[in-house]
Amino acid sequence: MILSWLVIALAVVTAVSLVFISAPYGRHGRPGWGPALPARVAWVLMETPSVVLFGTVSYLTGGSGLFAAIWLSHYVYRAFVYPFRGAAGRPMPASIALMGASFNVLNSWINAPTVAPPGWTEDPRFWIGLVLFYGGMRINHDADARLRALREAGAGYSIPTGGLYRWVSCPNYLGEVIEWTGWAVLTWSLPGVAFALFTAANLVPRAYAHHAWYKRTFPDYPPERRAVFPFV
Ligand code: NDP
Repeated sequence: MILSWLVIALAVVTAVSLVFISAPYGRHGRPGWGPALPARVAWVLMETPSVVLFGTVSYLTGGSGLFAAIWLSHYVYRAFVYPFRGAAGRPMPASIALMGASFNVLNSWINAPTVAPPGWTEDPRFWIGLVLFYGGMRINHDADARLRALREAGAGYSIPTGGLYRWVSCPNYLGEVIEWTGWAVLTWSLPGVAFALFTAANLVPRAYAHHAWYKRTFPDYPPERRAVFPFV
C-alpha cells in the first residue's frame, strides 16, 4: 500500500521533471549522463526484473495466475523480443537503464501479489480492462513496427507514416498508456493505478518532447498531427 503511494509520488516527480529535462536516450541523448550501454543490453537489463521478479513474487505470494499471464504477455515481449527486432537504437546511458531496472523491481514487487476476487472473470471491469490492455498493446506494437521499418530503411530519423501516426507523433506511447490503464481497470487495484499514472507521467512529457523535436527537425511535418492524444 505504502509502496503504491510511493510510485504515485514518483509519478508526480517524474512528470514535473520531464517537463524540464527530457530523458537522455534515443534522439534526446546527450553527454553528461555517464557511460552508455548498447541499446539491446540496456533494454534486456531494464525489463528482465518485470519478468523474473514478477513471476517469482506472484508465485510465492499466491498472486493471480491469470493476472501474471497477462502481465508477462507484455513483458516477455518487451524484455526478450523487442530489443532484438530490427536495427538497434542508439546506446543508452547505464544510469538510465539502472533507473529503469530499479523502477521495474519496485513496480513488479507491488503488482505481482494482486489477487483476483472470486468470479472476477464474470465482472465487466475485467473484460473492459482486458480490451483496453490488448487494444493498447496492438497500437503499441503497430507503431513500433512502423518505426522499425524506418530504421531498417537506414536513413536515420524520418517522419513516420500510417496507422495512428496519421493523428499523433507517438502512437507507441499512446498504446502503452492505454495498455496500463487497462491493467489498472482489469486488476482494479491501487498498484495497477499507480503504474498507469507512472506510465502516463513518464511517456506523455516524452511524447511532447518528441513532437517538438519532429516539428523543429522537419519543416514539412504534418501540421494536424498532435503529440500523443488525437485532436488534443
Ligand atoms: P521511441 O519512439 O523513442 O524509439 C523507438 C525506436 O524507434 C528506437 O529504436 C528509435 O531509435 C527508433 N525511432 C524512433 N523514432 C524514429 C524515427 N522517426 N525514425 C527512425 N527511427 C525512429 O521509443 P522509446 O525508445 O522511448 O520506447 C520504446 C518502447 O518502450 C515503446 O514501445 C514505449 O512505449 C516503451 N516504453 C515504455 C515505458 C513505460 O513506462 N511503460 C517507458 C519507456 C518506453 P533511437 O533509439 O535511435 O532514437
